[in-house]
Amino acid sequence: MKLSSLGEFRLIDSIRKMAARRSPSVLIGIGDDAAALKLSSSSLLLATTDMLLEGVHFDLSCTDFYSLGWKSAAVNLSDIAAMGGVPRFCLISLGIPSSVSVEQVKDFYLGFRAVLRAYRTVLVGGDTCSSQKDFVINVVVLGESGKTKLVTRAGAKAGDRIFVTGTLGDSAAGLDLLRTTTGRRRQAAWRKKLIQKHLRPVPRVAWGRMIALAKCAHAMIDISDGLSSDLAHICDESGVGARIIAEDIPFSRSLLAASDKLGKTPLYYALSGGEDYELLFTVPPAKAKKLRSLDIAAAEIGVITGERRLLLTCEGKTKPFRPTGYNHFKKTGR
Ligand code: ADP
Ligand code: MG
Repeated sequence: MKLSSLGEFRLIDSIRKMAARRSPSVLIGIGDDAAALKLSSSSLLLATTDMLLEGVHFDLSCTDFYSLGWKSAAVNLSDIAAMGGVPRFCLISLGIPSSVSVEQVKDFYLGFRAVLRAYRTVLVGGDTCSSQKDFVINVVVLGESGKTKLVTRAGAKAGDRIFVTGTLGDSAAGLDLLRTTTGRRRQAAWRKKLIQKHLRPVPRVAWGRMIALAKCAHAMIDISDGLSSDLAHICDESGVGARIIAEDIPFSRSLLAASDKLGKTPLYYALSGGEDYELLFTVPPAKAKKLRSLDIAAAEIGVITGERRLLLTCEGKTKPFRPTGYNHFKKTGR
């Protein structure tokens, strides 16, 4: 069978079934943003890893090495944020082609280090190899839960309100701008902002932690693949459905300015774009007031439903929709 007929997420599902050996120390294994492992009675160890491949996740003609280092750290810390955990340690392995210079590797590490420092995460190891052609990056981040209960993808319940932090769609529009504009045309403020969101995402570690400590979310994920796909992950893991109100999805002014020129709607970028690294989480109505009392930029965009399907209300009309975010092996969708 071809990988393209299965797709990334169903492949992971089958790996998950093959690895189904249970251990009392594994509280959360394959299937969430990070694994949660019990080493002592007071805190859980969190572990997550993400790869960034040249030609798949980045193009060296669209990024500088500092930003690439920054992003490699940020996307991994984002998975710890999505559990409500605290990042602590990190390992990084690089496959480096001979076309990359020592100075470029050092720039990469400056960007990587800037993010680690901001989130008090310590680099403790890794591996270095030569690569035939492409630049390959793999990062592992270890974190801890403290005494807080973690927020998984699996706890959403019918009636929960769906919230998202920040604004959606900026990163994918930033990538389109990087691909279609050069030099001075990238200097307009709105273009710069979108490109910055793509090249240097900010992991929502503090917000994730606040949400977990306040115990106001039933489920949480970070948006790496696009709102439609990451919402589907929460719904699949929780056995629920969702209804999203298009008009309530938060868009930046920069995205609104860009979408006309790029010929795609803000809604398209939000649902299918991905790499926003914002948090998507569900809150029971009784905890909505508590959430609003926290200092978090979060917008309510819909509701969790008992019927296992995804619905989108746009201009008063409600229609089913499918996950159309990034899926390795398939062009789009689950
Ligand atoms: P995220 O987008 O949050 O990084 P992924 O979709 O990459 O999440 O992964 C979902 C889950 O599947 C995670 O628990 C991850 O550790 C696990 N996973 C992904 N690929 C593999 C693999 N090849 N083998 C084992 N587990 C995997
Ligand atoms: Mg994630």
